[in-house]
Amino acid sequence: MKTIYVDNNATTRVAPEVREVMLPYLGEFYGNPSSMHSFGGNVAHKIEEARTKLASLINASPDEIVFTSCGTESDSTAIHAAISSVPDKKHIITSRVEHPAVKNLFEYLSKKGYRVTFVPVNRKGILDLDYLYNNLTDDTAIVSIMWANNETGMIFPIEEISEAIKKKGIVFHTDAVQAVGKMPIDVGNSEIDMLSISGHKIHAPKGIGALYVRKGTRFSPFLIGGHQESGRRGGTENVAYIIGLGKASELAANHMDEMTNHVGKLRDKLEDELLKRIPNAMINGDRENRLLNTTSISFEYVEGESILLMMNELGICASSGSACTSGSLEPSHVLRAMGVPFTAAHGSIRFSLGIYNTEEEIDFIIEKLPPIIENLRNMSPFWK
Ligand code: PLP
Repeated sequence: MKTIYVDNNATTRVAPEVREVMLPYLGEFYGNPSSMHSFGGNVAHKIEEARTKLASLINASPDEIVFTSCGTESDSTAIHAAISSVPDKKHIITSRVEHPAVKNLFEYLSKKGYRVTFVPVNRKGILDLDYLYNNLTDDTAIVSIMWANNETGMIFPIEEISEAIKKKGIVFHTDAVQAVGKMPIDVGNSEIDMLSISGHKIHAPKGIGALYVRKGTRFSPFLIGGHQESGRRGGTENVAYIIGLGKASELAANHMDEMTNHVGKLRDKLEDELLKRIPNAMINGDRENRLLNTTSISFEYVEGESILLMMNELGICASSGSACTSGSLEPSHVLRAMGVPFTAAHGSIRFSLGIYNTEEEIDFIIEKLPPIIENLRNMSPFWK
């Protein structure tokens, strides 16, 4: 059975070009980049090349990039750095729809004495900017707002927010794990202080990430140790993975047009056809302000998990809400924050496409999903 993978917001396939550039660094070139000899020094040089490629993807300067182990570490590092640079300030702000990498850290900090403001979104998933701005105080240590939502694909106006926050002299961090590689990102022309990136969302392997730290931002390392990453993250570098992330960044920059012309078109076709063929189906989120690859669709009066299982039988890999929340029957906190009715939130499926998807695959889903929903509804006591 062929696998039809439409779960690219959960993770992506490692691009063959990425794997290829990594392999020598898992083999013959095993030197430590910190060594004095050129066997190690050559490796250090490759790390700097990767840093330059990643920096160029988001229009940063290479010395503003710190390699980490994942998006979660980048988020934790940024938030930790911000609050420890202003220890007297005890108020922190985020949104209600963040990934658990930020949400759970803020909840943890609230138990440690921080006052947390969670900025709401409306029914379309649009952030309440007035609420955000009205809650900024002299005691606010950091504002952390995601760039694009992993479940709905909703994009927040991060450049605009960063400018408003900057005027107040507050540190601004954005979790851009889902945005990077799917839309143009230009930190050089924004007021963003820190921005999180994850390799496995852009066709690099799992276990590598990065944090952009604007020059001049007060910073203290999360992993205290050696002098690696200019003292900003201790620990011998994950050489092969960093080189892979560099290559993936170069590919992502080259694939930007394909995102619009190929991925976006397939997503729109999938969405339009499913809405046409399946009654009581609705898109979660504002269709105008979304990532090109993502659609979250609610099929009322069916369980998302049952839909996933039936699709799985056909080799279709999607997700019900966030990958991290699947397995639990609680509707996702994102859909709840948007006020999606219970009957719809339960039957929500996230399709997240990628550059490797083909039109045939999308046609297959369009053909197979309507009868699945119909059969499940016929078994449901709530459907008549
Ligand atoms: N932030 C967002 C928005 C995500 O979607 C994810 C992963 O799904 C993360 C952070 C965590 O990234 P990682 O899996 O690299 O820790």
